[in-house]
Amino acid sequence: MLNFTVGPVMCSDEVCAVGGEQVPYFRTPDFSKLMLENEQFMLKFAKAPKGSRVAFMTNSSTGSMEASVMNCLTASDKVLVINGGSFGQRFEELCEIHEIPHDVLHLNPGQKLTRDHLYEYDGKGYTGLLVNIDETSTGVLYDSEMLGEFCKKNRMFYICDCVSAFLADPFDMEHCGADVMITGSQKVLACPPGVSMIVLGPRAVERVMNAKVKSMYFDLADVLKNMDRGQTPFTPAVGILRQINKRLKEIEAAGGADAEIARVAAQAQDFRNKIKELPFEFVSESPANGVTAVHPVNADAYDIFMELQDHYNIWICPNGGDMKSTVFRVGHIGYLSHEDNTTLIEALKDMQSKGKI
Ligand SMILES: *Cc1c(COP(=O)(O)O)cnc(C)c1O
Repeated sequence: MLNFTVGPVMCSDEVCAVGGEQVPYFRTPDFSKLMLENEQFMLKFAKAPKGSRVAFMTNSSTGSMEASVMNCLTASDKVLVINGGSFGQRFEELCEIHEIPHDVLHLNPGQKLTRDHLYEYDGKGYTGLLVNIDETSTGVLYDSEMLGEFCKKNRMFYICDCVSAFLADPFDMEHCGADVMITGSQKVLACPPGVSMIVLGPRAVERVMNAKVKSMYFDLADVLKNMDRGQTPFTPAVGILRQINKRLKEIEAAGGADAEIARVAAQAQDFRNKIKELPFEFVSESPANGVTAVHPVNADAYDIFMELQDHYNIWICPNGGDMKSTVFRVGHIGYLSHEDNTTLIEALKDMQSKGKI
């Protein structure tokens, strides 16, 4: 099965092999060493400023989005949420659940976020910003530097969901001034799902350490205290953390974060060039590297997903909700090659020759 979804994605053979090993006991110096190594790689690849820390969470990335809201924001904040799709919607709902005062900047599906949109909220007393740097539902990339400048000017706490953008799109935590960067194991890290990382800048560490959180599992101060010695408060997904270690070393050996970003960008470009011959339109005005959202002009998007699965052994990523019939997505992350793009395009052309597209 060839997997072009946006997570879980295909793993390298080496990462798969680690998944086949027995899972060791973890309250040991060896496991602590591995965790501290994972932290150093994450800080380096996120280009995090000095004094940053990493929380390794055994939950999907939505859990880390929730933990970030709970630990870094309070009822005395006034937060701006960028909502251009289902992941922006998730931040909006988290603010509602945790009673964080907020306003929402709504964008249409695929719409680019411009300076003009953003500066309507300038000088209005906002204290925090929640944004998904790649709104994966439509593959729209927001400008992390423009948002960072706006946050600096307005003295806002800047939380970035980079779940599908980390290692796919350029992101410099120190330069853009992000306080929090969230990502997960099953996106560009190309490991099984189950672990999510929260990189906390110095201001975020301070907030977390002073937060009064009504939760045991999502108390990030407890997570960071344990992480001082490379440990976690509770049993983590030990096997996946070992696979993450293998993968981070792979990325380092292949040239580091920038080389991986260039690889994903080339994978996306190759697909976008090849698909031009087919009766499809691109959805995003500002495409992220990790995924391409495609609108089939003459066919139902979900039917294409089913047909590829049932007759070609290929998974693309269907969209949910309102876009189920009109949009499908093709991921460029994980263990995929340009040749794999050709295989997908050939399958689509075969469907076209049969009058199905
Ligand atoms: C995948 C993704 C998430 C997290 O989804 P989980 O199912 O909780 O892992 C969050 N935000 C974005 C932008 C994503 O792409």
